[in-house]
Amino acid sequence: MSDIAERLAELERLGLNRRLRLVSGPQGPTVLLDGKPVLLLCSNNYLGLADHPRVREAAAEAAMRWGAGAGASRLISGTMTVHRRLEEGLASFEGSQACLLFGSGYLANLGVISALAGPEDAVFSDELNHASIVDGCRLSRAEVIVYRHLDVEHLEWSMRRDRARRDGQRRRLIVTDSVFSMDGDVAPLAAIVEVARAHEARVAVDEAHAIGTVGPGGRGAIAEAGLEGEIDATIGTLGKALGSYGAYICADEEMTRYLINVARPLIFSTAPSPPAVAAALAALELLRERPHRVQRLRANARALRRALASEGFAVADDDMPIVPLVLGEERAAMDMCQAAIEGGVFAQAIRPPTVAAGTSRLRLAAMASHTAADMVKAASVLAAAARRLSLDPAAIGPPPGQPSSSDQRIDDHEDGEAAPHEVEVGSPAEPFDLERSMDGEHERAVAEPQHAPFDHERDGEFARAA
Ligand code: PMP
Repeated sequence: MSDIAERLAELERLGLNRRLRLVSGPQGPTVLLDGKPVLLLCSNNYLGLADHPRVREAAAEAAMRWGAGAGASRLISGTMTVHRRLEEGLASFEGSQACLLFGSGYLANLGVISALAGPEDAVFSDELNHASIVDGCRLSRAEVIVYRHLDVEHLEWSMRRDRARRDGQRRRLIVTDSVFSMDGDVAPLAAIVEVARAHEARVAVDEAHAIGTVGPGGRGAIAEAGLEGEIDATIGTLGKALGSYGAYICADEEMTRYLINVARPLIFSTAPSPPAVAAALAALELLRERPHRVQRLRANARALRRALASEGFAVADDDMPIVPLVLGEERAAMDMCQAAIEGGVFAQAIRPPTVAAGTSRLRLAAMASHTAADMVKAASVLAAAARRLSLDPAAIGPPPGQPSSSDQRIDDHEDGEAAPHEVEVGSPAEPFDLERSMDGEHERAVAEPQHAPFDHERDGEFARAA
């Protein structure tokens, strides 16, 4: 047996084997999944723009006008008028001085983190940050200090303890998702910015799941918190609410010029294709013209959550579009996913390393293109799937730490008002053990040996790219 066959067998044994499911047709509210019609409940096409006629037409026209591909990286011949147009549109939408397109959100995170932190520097990162942030930390070769999820006290405590305070030399970067991809909760951005100011750190915020879903006119969690102009680098994706493919970073002019010079995924990867860029431009126009789409998404999210709660799931009454249904073990999540598909609902099971061991889940995502009736049907199919597997819906809901329907019921009963979301906060006076056993990806990022420095190669590479 080859080492690869052995590894595959091990993944199978652990219930972690992955395979590609085939979807026919666009990412609409229903799709054909491996030939079977199902309600789509796990796409990030939040606003239904990936399959919107104007967005499709824009892509088709762009292919005729500018061709199918950009032909080279942004720094060679790949910066075309359509890129510039979208960058201007996004900068104006985000209220930032400048914007820079990247091939994908994954590449943007790799680029910005490795540009703002190097081997001598420190990155402070939420333990549930997206894998692309984890990999950006790895690429930077900075010291990675992982703080507990949403825990600003813990963040501040670890910044105070950071040895950079003593030598005063190294750069420090705080990086966080704004809306967390697998949990749907929101980072306390205002408090993070305050800590950053007090401790002379930069802040990068990944708004991948916030653009088009939260904030005024869908402008994201930074706008919602009134922090426009306060964040050093804002990362957004074109592949989710904006219905296309690619990503961007909004920042000031100086930061943007710096990223053009040092962000490796921008320098060494082909520019986004003109049809993808034009599609995102059309989606952005639609979002600006018709922001009520965001309300429709939020109303569907609320309808989904209420329908799930009325089926007995422990889901809180809220209008955030990402709804995690935590089942625990990998197999339980896979079985629930399969039973739901058989009932006509597609919600892919999410397992480690995407989420921590023991928190495997279905991660539901509402879309603006669903109907309220779709949401009711989805909840009833999921409840029937749980019953078929002898699972109690009341034991299925958000991850620990997030409010559930039972918290809300108690609060409503006591004083009619929902209590603030309580996060378990470890004593900040406790030593923060970087090696502590976390099942998330970051533990490995911290524990892994650093790669050998390769700065000498870098200069050569830059020379070649220029
Ligand atoms: N950041 C977050 C928070 C994400 O969820 C994702 C994609 N799932 C990305 C970045 C990567 O974006 P892209 O798909 O454009 O590579």
